[in-house]
Amino acid sequence: MRAAVWFRNDLRTLDHPALNTAASNHQQLRAVYFLCPKQLDEHVIAPIRRHYLRRAVDELGEQLRKIAVPLDIIVVPDFAQVPDALYKYCSEHQLDAVYAHREHLPNELQRDRACRQKQIPLQLIDDELINPAQISKDNGEPYKVFTPFSRRCRDALLHNPPHCKPRPKPLPKAALTITPCPVFGEEQDSTDWPVTEKELLSHLREFCSRRASRYRDERDFPALHSTSRLSAPLSLGLISARQCLSRLQLEAGEAIHDPKSGPGCWLNELLWREFYRYVAYHFPSVAKGKAFQAHTEALQWRNNETEFAAWCEGRTGYPIVDAAMRQLNQTGWMHNRLRMICASFLCKDLQIDWRWGERYFLSRLIDADFCSNNGGWQWAASTGTDAAPYFRIFNPTSQSQRFDPDGAFLRQYLPELADRNPPDIHSPKERTDYTPPIVDHQLARNATLTMFDALKCNDNSLS
Ligand code: FAD
Repeated sequence: MRAAVWFRNDLRTLDHPALNTAASNHQQLRAVYFLCPKQLDEHVIAPIRRHYLRRAVDELGEQLRKIAVPLDIIVVPDFAQVPDALYKYCSEHQLDAVYAHREHLPNELQRDRACRQKQIPLQLIDDELINPAQISKDNGEPYKVFTPFSRRCRDALLHNPPHCKPRPKPLPKAALTITPCPVFGEEQDSTDWPVTEKELLSHLREFCSRRASRYRDERDFPALHSTSRLSAPLSLGLISARQCLSRLQLEAGEAIHDPKSGPGCWLNELLWREFYRYVAYHFPSVAKGKAFQAHTEALQWRNNETEFAAWCEGRTGYPIVDAAMRQLNQTGWMHNRLRMICASFLCKDLQIDWRWGERYFLSRLIDADFCSNNGGWQWAASTGTDAAPYFRIFNPTSQSQRFDPDGAFLRQYLPELADRNPPDIHSPKERTDYTPPIVDHQLARNATLTMFDALKCNDNSLS
């Protein structure tokens, strides 16, 4: 009995339910990964993420070699060609089954349906921390608000903790050669981001044992490097959310039950990730470019291209926005507080459609994740499920004073302001070396309130 495991966004061998099931049902196993360059181009995958993905696929090949499972990398332009290529692969290797984890976004569902229509023996297995099909309100409807969703998930997870699967035992030894993953477009070096299992597990252990206790107090301060920086490996499934939760539970014990503790607060962030996946599953229109709150499609965004370019390049004249955008452009990552500030600035100060920002972030982030990114943008634009009320508009200067009080983060990315100190650094008066603000925050705020008020005339649900 021969089978293959089809790896998708789950590039690991530990805690991999599909691999475990395949290994317990079959004596002969292969693994397959479909690289779809055109699909990746359409999803504007960042050069740094391309490099990271390629390293991750190579690392997967290495891990699989240790259990004597060969990894085949098949290059096809996009998802549309996958079913034919998989059908051919099944015939060539006389496979009785192909195991993979269930994915929930529309393109992925369509691809898997097409495989089934070709009679490919595809066995789909759940791999979510929270199975979106199994959590609903008492009346059977899906949650649209994070807090009650997270309460329900906490109860479920903490009373019935999920177990991580061990790595399957090695199959009978075979001499395997590893084919490196081909380059598929322009790359930016990602070697600052670990990909090996050993490095990632030790990073996770270190965070949970030493830093999670301070997480709640320090997580909003970008200069402190106090968050886990696990979003990139989570986004490709190099580690699972279950592994994160298990390690947190092991290191933090009872504290995890209290959302006001550091570990409890970190669990909450993992649940935000689950929430946005849940939203995309139950409300698939968000994955088709639509605002969750349909009436907000009528918002009259100004969409000024020059201002958009200034925002992308970190030239808005608002130091916190500029430093954050330069962090994104230079490193492929941005701190969560700064993502909120930059997203708010684009939508509420420049009145630019959140979809422009969503796409720009995807084109730059090493941790680009459709659901979390879309959820974050719709939250900031007040168009989403659990969105910020439209009248709550971040003031970039006071955010800067509050979350980077001594300007350490600003100085790191804005050499023009390297010799400035607070309070001046947050809103410099003398601007010979630094660009003037492209908009006046107070005036922009009023314009945004007017833009949303125009909607309110037609719909009372915005509050
Ligand atoms: P930690 O603070 O250590 O949190 C642990 C994990 O929880 C993260 O790795 C991440 O997987 C998850 N998480 C934390 N905060 C959130 C959140 N608000 N929403 C969803 N999941 C969360 N996250 C992505 O992984 N990919 C994206 O493309 C992405 N785009 C975003 C866009 C905007 C506009 C906003 C406001 C947020 C976005 N986020 C995204 C969420 C969040 O900013 C990042 O997950 C976080 O900054 C990653 O850093 P960390 O790993 O140190 O997080």
